[in-house]
Amino acid sequence: MQTSPTDRPAAPETPADIVARLRATFRTGRTRDLHRRTDRLLRLRSLLTEHGDDLADALRADLGKSRKEAYRTEIDFTVREIDHTLEHLAGWLRPEPALVPAHLAPTGATAHTVLDPLGVVLVIAPWNYPVQLLLAPVVGALAAGNCVVAKPSELAPATSAAVARLLPRFLDPDEVAVVEGAVPETTALLEQRFDHIFYTGNGTVGRIVMAAAARHLTPVTLELGGKSPVYVDGDTDLGTVAARLAAGKFLNAGQTCVAPDYVLTGPETAPALTDALAAAVEELYGPDASAHPEYGRIVNERHFDRLAALLGSGRTVTGGAHDRDTKYIAPTVLADVAPDAPVMREEIFGPILPIVTVDGLDGAIAFINDRDKPLALYAFTGSPAVRDRLLAETSSGGVGLGLPLAHLTVSDLPFGGVGESGMGRYHGRYSLETFSHRKAVLDTPLSA
Ligand code: NAD
Repeated sequence: MQTSPTDRPAAPETPADIVARLRATFRTGRTRDLHRRTDRLLRLRSLLTEHGDDLADALRADLGKSRKEAYRTEIDFTVREIDHTLEHLAGWLRPEPALVPAHLAPTGATAHTVLDPLGVVLVIAPWNYPVQLLLAPVVGALAAGNCVVAKPSELAPATSAAVARLLPRFLDPDEVAVVEGAVPETTALLEQRFDHIFYTGNGTVGRIVMAAAARHLTPVTLELGGKSPVYVDGDTDLGTVAARLAAGKFLNAGQTCVAPDYVLTGPETAPALTDALAAAVEELYGPDASAHPEYGRIVNERHFDRLAALLGSGRTVTGGAHDRDTKYIAPTVLADVAPDAPVMREEIFGPILPIVTVDGLDGAIAFINDRDKPLALYAFTGSPAVRDRLLAETSSGGVGLGLPLAHLTVSDLPFGGVGESGMGRYHGRYSLETFSHRKAVLDTPLSA
C-alpha cells in the first residue's frame, strides 16, 4: 500500500532541530519579559504542586524514596527555590550602578551592569535527586530569561518519563524542551551549540561535557561530587553529633552528593563516637532498616555490587546486611578504617560511613589537604579556634558547621564545588548570575 506524504509519520526531531526551534523562540525576545519569566516560574510551581504525588510515585519506583522524603528533598525543595526566586527576581534584575573613574567624570558619564539572558541552555541531570537536580537549575535558567533543553537521567527512568510527560503541559515546548535518553542521546545533544551547559553528575562525564563544550567555547557549570569529610572534635556532645550525622549520611541511602563521606576523629573520641552512631542508626531506622518506610534503596545492581564490595573495608560497628534482589544495603558504620582501604579510594555514594582516626586537628587538616577538594566539609566542634583553622586551612565547595547537608537548602547561599568537586555555583541569585551575562554599560552624554 502506498502512503501519501501526509500519512507518513513526521520524522523525529533531531537535536539540531530542537535547538534551532528554541533559538527561534529566544530571538523573538519574549522570554526576556519579566512578566513572562514570572509566569513560567509560576507554571513550573503548579506542575510541582498539582503533580507532586505523580513525581513522588516515580521517585519511589526509581529509588524507593518515601513520599515524605520525596516532598522534603525534591518537590518542596524546588518549590521553595521558585518562591525565593519569585520574591527577589525584580530586585536582582535591577541594573547595578558602577563607579565612574575620575578621568571620565568631566564627561558626565554613568556606568552600570545589566543581566542579559544567554540564549539556549542545556541542563543535564543525574539520577539521585532526579527532580530537584533537573528542575532547580531550570528555575534559574527560566528566571534569567533563557530557553532550556532539559535532559533527565536515564538511570531514574520513571522520573524521567514523568518529567517528560508533565513539563510540556505546563511550559511552552518552544521554550523548554525535554530530551530523554542515555549516552547516545546526550552525546548528540552535546554536539550542538548551546549558550551554557549545566551538568550535574560525576567527574568522568564532567570532563566529556567540558571537552564537548570547548568546541563551541560554551561556558559550563559542573556540579560534581567527591568525598566530603567530617571532622568530629572531642569536646562535643557525641549523641547530638551522631544523630545529625546519621540523618545526613543515610538520607536517600547515602546517595547524596553532599553526604558525609567519612569521619575523621582522634583516637580518644572514636570509640564513643562509634557507639553513639550505632545508637543513632537504631533510633532512626529501628533494628532492621529494611522494614523501615523511610529508608531508601540503591539505584541499580551496578551500584549495589560496587558498594557491597566496600563493606569489608573496616570493623562493622552497625549494619553490613545487604540483599541484591531488593538492592538493600543496611545503614553501615565501619570503624578502624585504614586511610588507603577500598572504601577510602573513591566517593562512596551509598550507606557506608567509615571512621578514620587521625592525630587531632592537625592530622585531620593534613588528611583533607592530601586529597581532592571536596564538595562539602563538615565539622562538629565547640571551639571557635578549631572552626577558624578548618575554614582558613582547607578548601571545599561549602562548609557545614554542626549540621550536614542543610547548607544546600539555603537559597541565598551559592551551591557548587571547587577543583575536582566542580566549577560554578547556583541557587537563588547565583543561578541568575550563572544563566546570565553581566553586561557592562558606559553611558556618556553627547553634550557635556
Ligand atoms: P548519571 O549516571 O545519571 O549521569 C548524569 C548525567 O550524565 C545523566 O543525564 C547521563 O545521561 C549523562 N551521561 C552519562 N554518561 C554520559 C556520557 N558518556 N556522555 C554524556 N553524558 C553522559 O549520574 P552520576 O554521574 O552517577 O551521578 C552521581 C555523581 O554525581 C556523584 O559523583 C555525585 O556526587 C554527583 N552529584 C553531584 C551533585 C552536585 O550538585 N554537585 C548532585 C548530585 C550528584
